[in-house]
Amino acid sequence: MNTLANDLRALVQQRLIAKTRIEPSGCWVWTGVRTRARPTSHEYGVLGIRIGVGKMHTSAPHRWSYLLFVGDIPHKYQVDHLCKNTLCCNPAHLEAVTALENLRRSRVWEVNRSKTHCPAGHPYGKPVLRTAKGRVNVPARDCPRCGLVRKWIKRNPGKTAADYVPRAERTHCKHGHEMTDANTIIGMASDGYLKRSCRECVNVRAREYQRLLRASGKKKR
Ligand SMILES: [Zn+2]
Ligand SMILES: [Zn+2]
Ligand SMILES: [Zn+2]
Repeated sequence: MNTLANDLRALVQQRLIAKTRIEPSGCWVWTGVRTRARPTSHEYGVLGIRIGVGKMHTSAPHRWSYLLFVGDIPHKYQVDHLCKNTLCCNPAHLEAVTALENLRRSRVWEVNRSKTHCPAGHPYGKPVLRTAKGRVNVPARDCPRCGLVRKWIKRNPGKTAADYVPRAERTHCKHGHEMTDANTIIGMASDGYLKRSCRECVNVRAREYQRLLRASGKKKR
């Protein structure tokens, strides 16, 4: 949004004066139309300004207040409330920050940072920086085990996450050999989990590999 034109300035000022209440804390609390608060977001004011029969410009009143008293809001910046009152329009309580900085200051950020396990109860790996188009680039924590489960469901249509049995808990390999201690080879999978392999199946694959190797050797001679 560009610096307010003079006719717009007068209108914005008029509406802010009419629709804010000054609290003892110094906050100018918006009393006009507001969005509904949801578990994931606070309530914000809504202020539409129209000059004559022109286009209606709708924004949050604290953004209007910032434009009026402070100046332009840099592209992709958000106006953060230093007082944590999302209905406050006092320019002294406002600061333009990047979306990432705004997120860092939020409670959601703190709560998510302290999580060590995914919603399904698997331990998280190292955070990775996720770059999504049109989104804030934030360190994301992907659960390697949930990723495995999603892939498994794709391979097995009609199954749900509840049907997934981790390799470590399977009693038989996919070819039906019993996973006894003697028939089990323990290794490390790429996601850091311990992985059990069926010795009998490994032997079958090894013999097949040797056969192919010998066959290709014969051709060369
Ligand atoms: Zn305030
Ligand atoms: Zn998970
Ligand atoms: Zn097997």
